[in-house]
Amino acid sequence: MPDQPLIALIATRQTHPKRAPTYEIPQAYLDAILTAGGLPILLPASLPLAALPRLVANFDGFVLSGGGDVDLMHYGGRANANVHAIDAERDAFELSLIPLVLAADKPLLAICRGVQVLNVALGGSLYEDIASALPAALRHDWYPNYQRDYLAHTVEVEPGSRLAEILGTRKLRTNSLHHQAIRQPAPALEVVAYAEDGVIEAVELPGKRFAIGVQWHPECLPDEPAMQRLFSEFVKAAHE
Ligand code: MN
Repeated sequence: MPDQPLIALIATRQTHPKRAPTYEIPQAYLDAILTAGGLPILLPASLPLAALPRLVANFDGFVLSGGGDVDLMHYGGRANANVHAIDAERDAFELSLIPLVLAADKPLLAICRGVQVLNVALGGSLYEDIASALPAALRHDWYPNYQRDYLAHTVEVEPGSRLAEILGTRKLRTNSLHHQAIRQPAPALEVVAYAEDGVIEAVELPGKRFAIGVQWHPECLPDEPAMQRLFSEFVKAAHE
């Protein structure tokens, strides 16, 4: 297939006790993009920010993947003992990348941390820790000692949204591997899905070719056709 769209995913720095650092991304993202007909290409978050405009021009779509917490300083968050795995390099890379991707109207699929960093990049804020801020909320942090495809709670999708159209349903069960969530949505974002407890589970940018963020992990649900349609519609938009 000579014209598979080039889909950029961001590889982030991992340190190890007994070997030199590596740049990584979980394989499930690569498999999901390949299955959907795209060519996943890894961009290390260490690339110079000055190269971003050229990279944005040369890729057909961008995935913002899961990962550690966005630094509180980017959204005026308050210190919380459960905030962890902040990666200054990745924050800087993604916060610089997002406005360029949206300005160029390149398709964007944001997953878990991705939806959080998207919201922060556009001026929104986060709950530093759902359980601390919303004691009555459901449990959303079904990690690390659970199967990543464990369907933890129900999500209701807004009728008429692009997401509802893609998923083909207004109510579904999702996995849930996050301890943070959107607090104040950025003005540009439309909230299009909630968990039963009111936690925001998905957003869209109206008017874009494809700009959707989900708080769950569709790449860990390869056997769920609705989840795979998210990737196939994203790759399709990247191909147009
Ligand atoms: Mn959740």
